[in-house]
Amino acid sequence: MFRSILFALVLIWPSFGWAETIYPGYEWRLVDEGIYLHTQEDPFAGPVDGNSIVIVNEDDVFVIDTHINPAVARAVVSKIKSITDNPVSYIVNTHWHDDHINGNATFQNAFPNAEIIAHPYSAEKLKDEWRNLEESRMVAYESLTVERILEVAEAAEADDPMRAMNLRLYAGYVGALKPELPTLEYVYPTKFVSDQLVFERGDRKIEVHWVGKGNTEGDLIVFLPNEELVITGDMLVAPIPYAFDSPMQEWPTTLAQLKKLGAETIIPGHGKPQKNMQYLDQVIDLINALLSQVDQAAKNGVAYENLADAVDLNDHRKLFTSGDADAEFAWKNYFFDPGLNSAWVSLGYTPSVKE
Ligand SMILES: [Zn+2]
Repeated sequence: MFRSILFALVLIWPSFGWAETIYPGYEWRLVDEGIYLHTQEDPFAGPVDGNSIVIVNEDDVFVIDTHINPAVARAVVSKIKSITDNPVSYIVNTHWHDDHINGNATFQNAFPNAEIIAHPYSAEKLKDEWRNLEESRMVAYESLTVERILEVAEAAEADDPMRAMNLRLYAGYVGALKPELPTLEYVYPTKFVSDQLVFERGDRKIEVHWVGKGNTEGDLIVFLPNEELVITGDMLVAPIPYAFDSPMQEWPTTLAQLKKLGAETIIPGHGKPQKNMQYLDQVIDLINALLSQVDQAAKNGVAYENLADAVDLNDHRKLFTSGDADAEFAWKNYFFDPGLNSAWVSLGYTPSVKE
């Protein structure tokens, strides 16, 4: 009873904009009783970083995704230790991209008995690509400083604002990751889910599902039926979806499966929680429109190089970006350009020369 009253009081705060800063540029928010979201204040800031979700149960803690920057993961670990004595027993990696897994070792070092859960596809990708990806980043950053990149960005602002935006974003990566990557530890999944795994924790049920191919082939989602809450990883990203090397053809069906769970609250892989299905429906419509237009263009004999001119998603673009410059940048660089390639490959046409 006391817990419920306390929670009812706490719930009032978010409606007044309550959010705590435990790491600069991020917000720590209560989403439901014992369920916290750590998310970037500005979803377009660099480095682009995934959400991390902390679920505090009666006797243990689950963490869903661990951020790109181990320093941010350390802040989340400290926060967990300040609110509960319970250990983290499970870390779920929704997929293999580094903005969701670079903090794995930080959590496992703090909670040595924690198991890391992932889809077997993600585990394979991590084994094959993770270390190379971060080591090549380290080499690229070696001679760069944030100050120098920002100077170049400022000089580019007038003639090429898109390039300036890209440089500022890059400065965010260099500033956050250059000090961290030399000591990054590579900790791999220890438990694999290719269908579903259900945990009972008192009144709470935590279900880890693979509902189909989405943003990657191995996206796991976490569903809490009693709270009617689903954590999607990058299968859903707000306010602009990501489409890097995604199995586009299967993605709308997978999102429809996700919708069938009937959650009231969706916590996407990046961005703010969604309180209804409207955004999910908009993303399904968008991917279907991209797929059908790319397919039609290919059937009309349009070459891959000319695909961008043959696909008109402007109505969708306006709906997603509302004309905001940062959102337009994300639309082009995170959805439209990579999405053309993903759709082309996913529909079985000859892989692009860009790859
Ligand atoms: Zn991500």
